[in-house]
Amino acid sequence: MNDCIFCSIANRQIPAELIVETDTLVAFHDLNPQAPQHVLLIPKKHIATLDGAGDEDRAVLGDLLLAAAEIARRLGFAEAGYRTVINCNQNGGQSVYHLHVHVLGGRALEWPPG
Ligand code: AMP
Repeated sequence: MNDCIFCSIANRQIPAELIVETDTLVAFHDLNPQAPQHVLLIPKKHIATLDGAGDEDRAVLGDLLLAAAEIARRLGFAEAGYRTVINCNQNGGQSVYHLHVHVLGGRALEWPPG
């Protein structure tokens, strides 16, 4: 996808400090953090939404969650706790249409979300 900002980050057309890069995903800090720690994980493959993911994406969806847990441990907030979020479509509050997992930590998070 030529006009997808997260594809551009994954392809390194836009500079971003990558926390993790594997064959299937990259992770980087959110530009507008909502918690002291706010990491985004994205598949290298352009998948617009979770609703658009298919059977063929089963492995990468697993990779994203395992990498989220690994990053939380590596950045030191796993034990205190954190939240993973995938916003989907308009009512879910999705603003970038390239599937991504938010990992939020470093403070107590409220529930339910707004
Ligand atoms: P969502 O609302 O779930 O689609 O989340 C999109 C997230 O991407 C927001 O938290 C934005 O702050 C973040 N974001 C947008 N552009 C960038 C960028 N260039 N680098 C890092 N984070 C970004």
